[in-house]
Formats: sequence, C-alpha cells, structure tokens
Amino acid sequence: MKKTRHTKTAQKSSKMSNISSPKGMRDLMNDEYYAFQGFFEKAQEVAVYYGFKPLETPMLEHEEIFTTGIGEGTDIVDKEMYTLKTKGGDHLALRPEHTAPLVRAYIEHGMQTLPQPVMLYHSGPVFRHDKPQKGRYRQFWQFDADALGSEKSIMDAVIIKTCMSILEEAGAENLSVDINSIGDKECRNGYIRELTNYYKKHINSLSTIDRERLKINPLRILDSKEEKTIAINEGAPDSVSFLCPSCKKHFKEVLEYLEEMNIQYNLNKNLVRGLSYYTRTVFEIIEQAGSEESAPMALAGGGRYDYLARQIGSKKDVPCVGFSIGVDRIVASPWYKKLAPRILKKPKIYFIQLGSEAKLKSLNVIEILRKAHIPIAQSLSKDSLGSQLAIAEKLSIPYAIIFGVKEALDNSVIVRNMGNRSQDTVKLGKLLEYLKEL
Ligand code: AMP
Repeated sequence: MKKTRHTKTAQKSSKMSNISSPKGMRDLMNDEYYAFQGFFEKAQEVAVYYGFKPLETPMLEHEEIFTTGIGEGTDIVDKEMYTLKTKGGDHLALRPEHTAPLVRAYIEHGMQTLPQPVMLYHSGPVFRHDKPQKGRYRQFWQFDADALGSEKSIMDAVIIKTCMSILEEAGAENLSVDINSIGDKECRNGYIRELTNYYKKHINSLSTIDRERLKINPLRILDSKEEKTIAINEGAPDSVSFLCPSCKKHFKEVLEYLEEMNIQYNLNKNLVRGLSYYTRTVFEIIEQAGSEESAPMALAGGGRYDYLARQIGSKKDVPCVGFSIGVDRIVASPWYKKLAPRILKKPKIYFIQLGSEAKLKSLNVIEILRKAHIPIAQSLSKDSLGSQLAIAEKLSIPYAIIFGVKEALDNSVIVRNMGNRSQDTVKLGKLLEYLKEL
C-alpha cells in the first residue's frame, strides 16, 4: 500500500512543468544575498547604537491581528493578505508588515511593565499579494524600528533620525522627509467629517474605487493614485488645520527636531499612509529622482500608532512610533554602497594542495588557519599546480600556501609570495608565527 503511494508521488513530481518560484517572489543568492546581509548588519548596528533591541516574530500570525490592527478599507487587508486555514482550524496570515506582530509580542510578553519606551528592531520578509512591478514584490524584506510606550515628540525624532542614518549609511543621498500629522481621537473625527463632506460634494468626479473608500475609510482617498481623484485632492481640507492644541504642539516639536538636525522635510497634506492605525505623525522618506525620467521613490515610511495596542488587546493605550525600510529597493538602487557582510573576508592566502597524501591532510592545515581567523581561498577539487596557481593569480591573492607530498610527509608547507615569487618552507607548528610576520 505504502509502496503504491510513493510511486504515485514520484510520478506526480516528475511531471512538474513549473519550476519557477511563485510570481513576485524570488531566490536570494550570490551578490544580492550578501547585499541584503550587509544592509541588515549596518541597519542593526545603527539601531543598536540608538538603543533598540532585537525582536523576531513568526512569519505567520492570527489573521485578526491584521484585520483589526491595519483595518478594513486598506489595500493590505482587503486585497493583499495571504491567508490560510490550518488543519487545526486556525485562520492565519503571512505577515504583510511587522508593526502589528510587534505590538502583539509587546502585549503577550507583558512589556508594559518594563521601563518605557521599549525600543525594538525587527526585520525579515513580509508578504503582500500586490501586482509585481519594478521595486514591488509579493515577498519583500523590511527593516523596522519602533519605540513603544512614549508619546514624547523626541521619540518621533529618534525614529526619523535612526531611519535616515541607516539609509545614509547605505549610500542614499538626496533624501527628504514627507511629513504630516493626522491628529488623535480628539481632532481626527472632526477632520474626517470635514473631509467626507468635501468628497461628497465632489462625488461625481471621484473614481469608482474612491467612492467605495468614502464609505469605509475616507482618509485613504487622499493618497489615491486615481487621476480623477488626484485633481480633487488638490482642494481637499488638510488635517493640520484641524489639529487640537496638544497634537499641534506635538507636531510643531517634531518639526523643530527635524530643523535642528538639518533634516529637509516637506509638509505633505495628502500623506496619510495606507494603514488605519496611524495617529499624529506620519512620514515617508523619499529619494528625490536622480534624473527627469525616474520618479521619486519611497524608501521608508512610518509614523505614530497610539491606539493600535488597545485594538490588539492591551487594556490601555500604548503610544508608539516606528519606521519601516523597504530593503529590496535599497539594495537595488544604483547608489547602494554594497555593504559587505562581516563574515565575508578578503582572502590573504590561496591554499594549494598537490598529490593524494597532501589532499588527505589538507583540511587539517586549513583548520589551523581557520581557527587563527586567517581568511583563505582554495579549490580543493582541483589537482594540478598550474590550475590552482592560475586561480590565485586571477583573484590577486598576495600569498599562496603550497602543500605537496613532501610537505605532507614533513609536516610543513611552502609559503609563496605571489608578487615576487619568493618562497619559504615553514613547519606547520611555526606557520601562524610566520604568517603573523608577513
Ligand atoms: P509600508 O509598509 O507600505 O509602509 O512600506 C514600507 C516600505 O516598504 C516602503 O517605503 C517601500 O520601500 C517598501 N515596500 C512596500 N511595498 C513593497 C513591495 N511590494 N515590494 C518591495 N518593497 C515594498
């Protein structure tokens, strides 16, 4: 019985015609992999410097974390989530962003009892069933940092500064911050009422999708990409004029911090960001177009979300602020500095082995070098001296270690200077000392 089942599986898999990765998702490898790794190392270094601690949450979460947190009427929840029902009947979703899982973890682990704010960084792939195009994938990587438990405007400034520093360390230039404040529960409702009235007056000029948005989430109309709506948005009321005194003060302070740090910003009255959980500050970091043909691109975005924790299950509100950097777009940018990951070391020595006795013992010699942190390159599968020396020369490695049959019997190696071709025979016991002198 079992045998038949195996045969069937084998037959099925041999018929597979589509061996490509799913649309909008890709394998990370070679230089691109290292570019990502180098970026994450640098981003972590900056985040740790500013006092953020690491957090990693599962890629799957209960779907309602997102439907409640991000909210209906947003593209992510309405159209873009990958959801599944497990064999046990749980409704789970592949995370489309990091913020809601981060707040879930904060509540689940009782972090409210720690000294506030709790500052966390978080990275990894996120999944959105969007239409793939340049710089837009269905699986992409984000690096987030968030400060949970403080409503102080300095935390908004720390978040924006950390984000800018990471982008600049990665080589980004000509960055500017698009910023807006959409108020809190005191003033937001008044603004939304005014906005709704405005759109109702122009309902005949709105596109179909924006008429739908008017019923569920009128704020979303402000960042609509529909041509008809863009024209209507020009005259839409702006949220800043509706801010209550405390939101106004908060926003003014955030802008003062930016000015003090010489961070260039544009007040963008149409910036609301797609997700419902934002309150007060919202921002995007934009790379200004290098040429006329290329459009400005959002490299990162973020803002305050002072009510999300309560929506997810906290007994009281936890004022939070954070950013999210889209890593795929950074590493694909022409200005990306190709940050090298720390594990990649430029080899100083090329290890050459000749003859079966030497090949047999060669891993023992390499292990001596590895333990002493001496980076090498080798091609153990090759046999001839000529082909191995040719590789060493091609890679411009300054020294070669030649380990032949005689050396294997003598417990020694030949160290060759690839530049002037001088060489010395060195006992294995003295090798590290000898290499230190070079
Ligand atoms: P968001 O979570 O939508 O605020 O996005 C934060 C950042 O992630 C954006 O500024 C982009 O750089 C990046 N991003 C968003 N969506 C995608 C996508 N589909 N593919 C690649 N990067 C994305």
